[in-house]
Amino acid sequence: MSLIVVKFGGSSLADAQQFKKVRDIVLSDPSRRFVVPSAPGKRFEGDEKVTDMLYACQRLAQNGQSFDGIFDRISERFTGIESQLRLSTDIAFHLKTVKKDIADGATADYAASRGEYLNGILLSDYLGFEFVDAKEFIRFDAKGVFLAEFTNEIAGEVLKGKQNAVVPGFYGSYPNGAIKTFSRGGADISGAIVARSVFADVYENWTDVSGFLMADPRIVKNPKPIRVVTYKELRELAYMGATVLHEESIFPVRQACIPINVRNTNAPQEQGTMIVAEAEDYGDCAITGIAGKKGFSVISVEKDKMNVEVGFAYRVLSALVANGISIEHMPTGIDTLSVIVSQKDLQGRRREIIDDIMAACDPDSVEVHEDMALIAVVGRGMINRVGTSARVFTALAEKGVNVRMIDQGSSEMNIIIGIESEQFEAAVNAIYYAFQCD
Ligand code: ASP
Repeated sequence: MSLIVVKFGGSSLADAQQFKKVRDIVLSDPSRRFVVPSAPGKRFEGDEKVTDMLYACQRLAQNGQSFDGIFDRISERFTGIESQLRLSTDIAFHLKTVKKDIADGATADYAASRGEYLNGILLSDYLGFEFVDAKEFIRFDAKGVFLAEFTNEIAGEVLKGKQNAVVPGFYGSYPNGAIKTFSRGGADISGAIVARSVFADVYENWTDVSGFLMADPRIVKNPKPIRVVTYKELRELAYMGATVLHEESIFPVRQACIPINVRNTNAPQEQGTMIVAEAEDYGDCAITGIAGKKGFSVISVEKDKMNVEVGFAYRVLSALVANGISIEHMPTGIDTLSVIVSQKDLQGRRREIIDDIMAACDPDSVEVHEDMALIAVVGRGMINRVGTSARVFTALAEKGVNVRMIDQGSSEMNIIIGIESEQFEAAVNAIYYAFQCD
């Protein structure tokens, strides 16, 4: 029988109603043996996340102020779940301990981690699965660096032989046993760590969307879901702003070649998106997804015969490095070199950076063009497929979008297009509709 590790995000476990959905999902497949919960998230637009409230309690306690009001709201969340599900766990006792620890000066990491800890205790009771505290095997060094291999070894030992377990997400421990959390959203990472350590066949990441969509639904109306995406494609899309998962959560499972299935707790009948190492089946569609961002500037440097001047690009880049500017893309021509950078990085320093470039390489001109947007058209199906870029640029031309920059990665898996920010939405839609396929 296969083995599945399931992680549920905060909105999937926000109240008793959501707990019921989670139980139905977990118990409907006996392969779902290890469950990694987040803390209760928002129940509705404008609601509070338990993790945020715990951080706030700790800050107030640190400043010697009362945190009774917020802690009462936290308690209500957990006792509400406990009583509505008629659980036998004495959650009031656990809450009392957490409150006392925070009042006694607990760290922010400890306080924040209690959301997952308490939710894990409730969920283990509800599912009838053993509770295994993540601090036992998710380990950091004294400086707070996550110890991937050490963790994998101990996790394997701790979880080996267990039929099933609930392991709270988001945290582990320092060598002295104190609690250390991952960055926000880090329960995704915990799930991936557990999946790797038990040699899971699949890591299911349950959230409130049915996986990744081909484009941002705020820009394109009802975009199609992505059924299969490779890690590499996802990296390109995530870099351009498409995020559902914590970026670091990919690494443990990628290393072990375990596919991730992103699914929707509120629509479990949908298959969601499979994230895999390799995939061929792109059907008729050359592209997997489109993502993009606004807020870029292009610095264009021009110099006659720059192509024969040894070290020209090096000098331009050195001037940018000396100013701490990171480079997104660098399309070049025969006598021009353009560097795309984040507009934020240039703010208030434009003149001095231009002067530094002038001093470094004595060009004929340096121009900065602001308010650019970048769009990444990503797809493993593009490799060796004739006509994909023609389709992209025809679609853009038909909508009157002026393309200012084109860059194709050597992997041939993406085309990056630079356009004016104000044409961003029109451009994303034009590309999406040019690739209507299943
Ligand atoms: N509860 C934590 C947060 O809100 C971790 C997570 O949900 O992944 O960031």
